[in-house]
Amino acid sequence: MTTHAIPAPPQISLPIAGTSTRFPVRRIFCVGRNYAEHAREMGNDEREPPFFFTKPADALVEDRATIPYPPATHDLHYEAELVVAIGTGGAAIPEAEAEAHIWGYAPGNDLTRRDLQAEAKAMKRPWDMAKGFDRSAVCGALVPAPIAGHPAQGRLTCTVNGAVRQSADLAEMIWPVPAIIAHLSRLVELRPGDLIYTGTPAGVGALQRGDSCSVAIDGLGQVTTRIG
Ligand code: MN
Repeated sequence: MTTHAIPAPPQISLPIAGTSTRFPVRRIFCVGRNYAEHAREMGNDEREPPFFFTKPADALVEDRATIPYPPATHDLHYEAELVVAIGTGGAAIPEAEAEAHIWGYAPGNDLTRRDLQAEAKAMKRPWDMAKGFDRSAVCGALVPAPIAGHPAQGRLTCTVNGAVRQSADLAEMIWPVPAIIAHLSRLVELRPGDLIYTGTPAGVGALQRGDSCSVAIDGLGQVTTRIG
C-alpha cells in the first residue's frame, strides 16, 4: 500500500442523472470557437482546424452550486456548452468510430475571466488563468449515451435571471462532436473519464454578483449556478 507524504486528493467525479453512481473525471479539454455566426456555404470546407485548451478537473462545479465571484477579474462571462464524457479511451480515433468512445453528455458552462483572456490574446500569452481558474468548469449531471443518444442537433440555451442570453442549435457547431474527438485524439491519447467542452455559440456576456445562470440542452436537462 502506497504511503503519501500529504493526504492524496479525492477522486473528482460528476453525478449521473437518475442514479447515485458517479462518473470519475480525469481531465477537462475545451474547444475554442466552434459555432459559425452565419450559415456556412455548403460543400466548401474553409474551416480552421479546431483548437483546444484545458481546465483542471478540480475546477468542476455541480448543479445548483453558489460560487463566489472569482478573484482577479471584473468581467466574468458565461459560455453555454455541450459537454462530452469519454468512456473508452483511444489515440487517433477515426471520426466514424468516435461515438463508440462517448459515455454520455451534459450541459456545461465554461466560465471565463474575459478581461484576462483579452489580455492574454493581446500579449500572446497562454489562456490558463483566463479559463482554468477555481470553480470555472460548471457541469450538470451526465446523461448516459444509451439514454441521451448522440445529440447532433437540439436547442442549447443560456439564461441569466430568467432572460435568454444564448440560444443556438447543436447542429450549428463548426466541428461536430465526432470531428472534435478525431482531432483531439490525434493530439493526446484520450482516456476514460476525460471531459470535452465543445464550444459556445454567440451571445456570451458578463455575470454579476447575485446572478443565477442556467444552461439547458434539449434532452440533457440543465445546470444552474448562482454567483455569490
Ligand atoms: Mn468555451
